[in-house]
Amino acid sequence: MDFAFSSEQEAFRNEAGDFIKKEVPSEWRWRRYAFDFYSHYDEVGSFARAMARKLGAKGWLSLTWPEEYGGRNASPIFQLILAEELEYHRCPGFDIFGVGMIAPTLIRFASEEQKREHLTRIAKGEILWCECLSEPGAGSDLASLETQATGDGDYFVINGQKAWTSGAHGADWCIVLARTGRDLPRHKGLSFFLVDLKTPGITISPIVNMAGDHEFNEVFFDDVRVPKRNVVGGENQGWYVTMGLLSFERATAVPLYAVARRYLEDVLQYARQTKSLHPVLRHRLSELIIQCEIGRLLTYRAAWMQEKGMPFDPEAAMAKLYAAELNQRVAAIGMEVLGLYSGLTEGSKWAPLDGRAPWHYLRSIGNTLEMGSSEIDRDMIASRGLGLPRR
Ligand SMILES: Cc1cc2nc3c(=O)[nH]c(=O)nc-3n(C[C@H](O)[C@H](O)[C@H](O)COP(=O)(O)OP(=O)(O)OC[C@H]3O[C@@H](n4cnc5c(N)ncnc54)[C@H](O)[C@@H]3O)c2cc1C
Repeated sequence: MDFAFSSEQEAFRNEAGDFIKKEVPSEWRWRRYAFDFYSHYDEVGSFARAMARKLGAKGWLSLTWPEEYGGRNASPIFQLILAEELEYHRCPGFDIFGVGMIAPTLIRFASEEQKREHLTRIAKGEILWCECLSEPGAGSDLASLETQATGDGDYFVINGQKAWTSGAHGADWCIVLARTGRDLPRHKGLSFFLVDLKTPGITISPIVNMAGDHEFNEVFFDDVRVPKRNVVGGENQGWYVTMGLLSFERATAVPLYAVARRYLEDVLQYARQTKSLHPVLRHRLSELIIQCEIGRLLTYRAAWMQEKGMPFDPEAAMAKLYAAELNQRVAAIGMEVLGLYSGLTEGSKWAPLDGRAPWHYLRSIGNTLEMGSSEIDRDMIASRGLGLPRR
C-alpha cells in the first residue's frame, strides 16, 4: 500500500503553503479555526472575502469540479491539502458551506441552469453560503422539520424558523430544507431550496455560543417568496439531496483533523518550553500525535473513496466522528498542559498561546454535534457500515 502523495500533490502543497504564507499578514494571530471566520465576522469578514477571491482566482475553490464548470477534475485529496495548509496558517477564506458542501451537491443534483447561475460565483469566491436545515424541534431527527413551503404560481412561499444556522449573519445565500408535501410520508414531502438572503421576509437573529462568540443564528422566514426554479433535485426530493449534502459535509468539507493537529502543535511548542512535564502528560501528548495521524488517514480514505466513485457514507462518518472527538481530546490536554494559565483568555498579557486554550476547549464541545452528532454517526456506521439490525 502506498501512502505517499504524488509529486503533483507535493508540488501543490508547496505552492498553496507559499501562497498562503505570503497573503497572511506576518502579525496574524487569528486564534480560531481557519474555516470558522464567522465567529468574528465584523473583524475578519472582509479579509476572509478578499482571501476567498484570491483563492478563487487561483482556481483553488473549484479544484475537484468537472472541467465544464471551470474545475480541474482533481481528486478531493487536493482539496484536503489546501484545507490543511489554510488551517496550518489559520487563514480564512475557504467557505466550507459554499465550496465544501453546496457546490458538490449542485454538481450532483442541480439543473444545468442552477449550476450555471451559482457555480461560477462560488468558484470565484464572490458569495458566501449558509445552511438552514436544523430547527428548534428538528436536529438529529431532521425529517420532523416544520418549515413550510407552499406553491403560489411560479413561486414557493416559505414560512418557519431555522436554528443554529452558522454564518447566516455574513452569508449571501442559503440552502433551506422545507416541507412541500404535507400529506406525504415525512421524508418524502421535503424540498431543497436555494434562497437569496436578501429576499424580503427573512430575519436573522444572533445566537451566542458557549465560547462567547456570535457564530450561529436563528433564521425566521415570513412569507418568503422563492422562485420554483430554485428547487434543487425536484419538488419533494429534498431529503435525497440533503443526504448527498451531508455526505460531502462529513467527508471532506471540514478538516477537523487538521484543526486538532495544528492546535496540538501549539500545545507541544508550549510544552517544550516548560521546565518539567508530568510523565503522564508526555505519554498522552505522544498518544495524541498518533491519533492525529489516524484522523488524517481516515479523512483521506473517505476522500479517496469519493474520488473513486465508491459509496463512502460510513467511512465519512468514521472520519468525522473520530476527528471531532479527537479535537475535544486535544483541546482538553491543552488545558492540562497550560495548568492554571489555561483560564486566561485573549487580551491577558499572561495568557499563553494568545489565550486560545479556553476558547478551543469550549468551542470543541460543539464538534460532536455540528454536522450530525457522534451518536448519529455511530448509528450510521452500525447500520450502513456493519449491517447491524436497526433498533
Ligand atoms: C457549532 C454548531 C454549528 C451548527 N451549525 C449548523 C448549521 O449551520 N446549520 C444547521 O442547519 N444546523 C447547524 N447546527 C445544528 C446541528 O446540526 C444540530 O445541533 C445537530 O443535528 C443535533 O441536533 P440537536 O441540537 O437538535 O440535538 P438533538 O437531535 O435533540 O440531540 C440531542 C442529543 O441526543 C442524541 N440523539 C438524538 N437522536 C438520537 C438517536 N436516534 N440515537 C442516539 N442518540 C441520539 C444526540 O446525539 C445528542 O447528543 C450546528 C450545531 C452546532 C453545535
